[in-house]
Amino acid sequence: YYRCSWSSDSSDSVISSESGNTYYRVVLIGEHGVGKSTLASIFAGVPDSLDKNTYERTLMVDGESATLILIDIASFEKASELRIQLRRARQTEDIPIILVGNKSDLVRCREVSISEGRACAVVFDCKFIETSAAVQHNVKELFEGIVRQVRLRRDSKEK
Ligand code: GDP
Ligand code: MG
Repeated sequence: YYRCSWSSDSSDSVISSESGNTYYRVVLIGEHGVGKSTLASIFAGVPDSLDKNTYERTLMVDGESATLILIDIASFEKASELRIQLRRARQTEDIPIILVGNKSDLVRCREVSISEGRACAVVFDCKFIETSAAVQHNVKELFEGIVRQVRLRRDSKEK
């Protein structure tokens, strides 16, 4: 079951904005088997026919249209290591990062408590959410949350 799960970030998140719709690039990173592809396909359906690691879905978030491009990247690193690498690679950018504890339905084999997950997110300086792709819990909320995090940063830049 999950090892402090995988984190999802949206580096260079806003790709372009046209006729009221905004594109968001969201990268799913985490160890093999944590549920990245399942989460992506629950949220966005089948992957791109040419690029099986890319998914796309357009939806309304808080009355504003958003197209999410999900990029599903397998990683051999655990969440803490990935966080360090992200910080290094994106030093100057304030990119939204969400630590995701997936497979919350597997109650009996839980490895990370909710409070441990939250504490990790404090250390990682990021948001935290628990999801279950299997029972479709919090999946939409996760991706809506990413859009909101990107918008918050965009709006604070505009001021
Ligand atoms: P990835 O390697 O991170 O893309 O992981 P996958 O999406 O391929 O999922 C790995 C395995 O975990 C598959 O057998 C999925 O069916 C299973 N899985 C994914 N999400 C969940 C979940 O929320 N709950 C449970 N019980 N199993 C899940
Ligand atoms: Mg996968």
